[in-house]
Amino acid sequence: MLRLTRLVQILLAAVIFFSTPSAGAGHGPVYHGPRSVPVVALTFDDGPHQFTTPRLIELLDRLSVKGTFFIVGSQAVQFPQILSEIVARGHSVANHSWSHRNITLLNSEDLFKELAYCSQAVEAITGMRPRFFRPPGGRWDSSSLIAAHELGLTTVLWDVSGRDMVQRAPQQIAASVIRAVRPGSVVLLHGGLEWTIEALPLIVEGLRAKGFIFASLDQMLPFAPEAKVPLRETSPGVARSSVVHPIKVVPSDQ
Ligand SMILES: [Zn+2]
Repeated sequence: MLRLTRLVQILLAAVIFFSTPSAGAGHGPVYHGPRSVPVVALTFDDGPHQFTTPRLIELLDRLSVKGTFFIVGSQAVQFPQILSEIVARGHSVANHSWSHRNITLLNSEDLFKELAYCSQAVEAITGMRPRFFRPPGGRWDSSSLIAAHELGLTTVLWDVSGRDMVQRAPQQIAASVIRAVRPGSVVLLHGGLEWTIEALPLIVEGLRAKGFIFASLDQMLPFAPEAKVPLRETSPGVARSSVVHPIKVVPSDQ
């Protein structure tokens, strides 16, 4: 598996070196990675969850797959150990807002806080600042793209959905994902659902049989814009006097 990871890195480096900037350039959103490499990124939204996320991490380890977790900041501060474990196992942690509100309905200050608070929480817990943002419900607008960009976040959606928010048979979820994935695909799944966890080994097995290799978003999209402003001094572009308050992380005992 180490050889496979190395192969992924070499293939991606070659593609990125010889291609003009596209994925990750500008304000996004990005729907997929390079189409010329048989790499796929599995992404899991809405965690961390107290019980299902640790199971998901174990399962990904057993399958030798690195995934990407789009986490909700207000949940992350309840389960900081789980967040640390995600990073320790080599997965990507990405920003899915602070409280999972419809960000297209927020004023610029609240929008900015939704993104900044989540990044702050991740950085406070793991020491790493997220590089990717996925708007809750996939609802985005030009303001959210700009806010994300200012915080050094690339907005990443998906080109393949497991459509697992409604309960479906694991075999059904897996079959539709395996059918739809193309090189560079970003697959939307949700981390707190039993049927998704049951579908995961089938998805991995089916895609490997078709020659796909798995990568985290950090591996698939290694270049993303730098933050325009330091996170701890950030505020909405039009209201720079308002300071984003630091997140106080209270370790949970679970
Ligand atoms: Zn979500």
